[in-house]
Amino acid sequence: MKLIMFSVREDEKTAIKEWEVRHNVEVTTVSEDLSLANVDLVEGFDGLSIQQVTELPEEAIYKKLAAFGIKQISLRTAGYDIINAEMAKKYKLTITNVPAYSPRSVAELVLTQTMRLIRHFPTLEAHMAHGDFRWRGLVAREIHTLTIGIIGAGKIGSTAARLFHALGAEVIAYDPVRREELEDILTYKDSQREVLEAADVISLHVPLDPSTLQIIDAEALSQMKPEAYIINAARGPVVDTQALIKALDSGKIAGAALDTLTNEQGIFNQDVRNQDLPEDFKLLMEMDNVLITPHIGFYTTEAVRNMVDIGLDNTVAILLNGTSKNEVLL
Ligand code: NAD
Repeated sequence: MKLIMFSVREDEKTAIKEWEVRHNVEVTTVSEDLSLANVDLVEGFDGLSIQQVTELPEEAIYKKLAAFGIKQISLRTAGYDIINAEMAKKYKLTITNVPAYSPRSVAELVLTQTMRLIRHFPTLEAHMAHGDFRWRGLVAREIHTLTIGIIGAGKIGSTAARLFHALGAEVIAYDPVRREELEDILTYKDSQREVLEAADVISLHVPLDPSTLQIIDAEALSQMKPEAYIINAARGPVVDTQALIKALDSGKIAGAALDTLTNEQGIFNQDVRNQDLPEDFKLLMEMDNVLITPHIGFYTTEAVRNMVDIGLDNTVAILLNGTSKNEVLL
């Protein structure tokens, strides 16, 4: 069996080598994203794994893959919106994803961001960069005195809830789906509004779909307490960036930590020192109550290893058994 993996980063290579040895399967790695320009590289391989934000709309890609005898595309990501579903179905390509590579990874980032925000790190660091080491009256709160509001208590949201609960914080959540097993660690509220009104820190963990687009808009932000912080490690478009900038600028909320931003593609995980950033990025970067991280929530050794292992396991499962537990419904 010969597999080919696209978009392979240096940090994935150890896990790939170890998987090859464990399974006695040869894996060829390519650093570029799969595209019409390089799809011919797949000829002669049995299985394919990709991981990219670049979409694959062209029919010719799927047609060529099918002509090369490829039966599947294994994504090493949770999202699979880059796939042209119609074409994948037409050319009988089974698509698999990695639904959970490490909820703990994102949850720990949220905990880190919360700690940094409540300790006023962004403001202190901004002033210290200019030689001003004063405390500026920025008294911090201790985490066990806080109410943490989770919007979307699924895999990541519930993991974050467990971490905060373990530190003594009160955790409240809004999620249309209630899970009995979480009722010892959080209190469900009947609406997003109730969570926004009561929490000191709001953490967003909803999937991005038409129903969650800009669920945090000007109205939602106006429901938050002025001393509250908001954290978005879900997907950028869940928040209306312009409304957030206004709320931060006018002191309607105390601060924000953003691991995802609308239009982050081409900026996060890129060197853009010689490019002009979009206006909203610039404004947020200049604010001393905002923490921006370049979509690193998933980026831990454990998560990277899981993405590689589960992605390759899915490939082999389809090739050997024609099915995988991580097949996605297109
Ligand atoms: P999940 O499907 O396990 O959980 C999502 C939860 O949100 C579900 O319980 C669902 O019922 C709930 N939900 C849906 N609509 C809602 C709404 N309007 N209000 C409240 N709750 C709602 O997903 P997950 O694996 O926990 O991922 C959550 C988010 O994290 C996704 O947006 C994902 O893209 C993002 N993510 C980010 C990173 C990163 O690196 N920052 C990494 C992985 C995942």
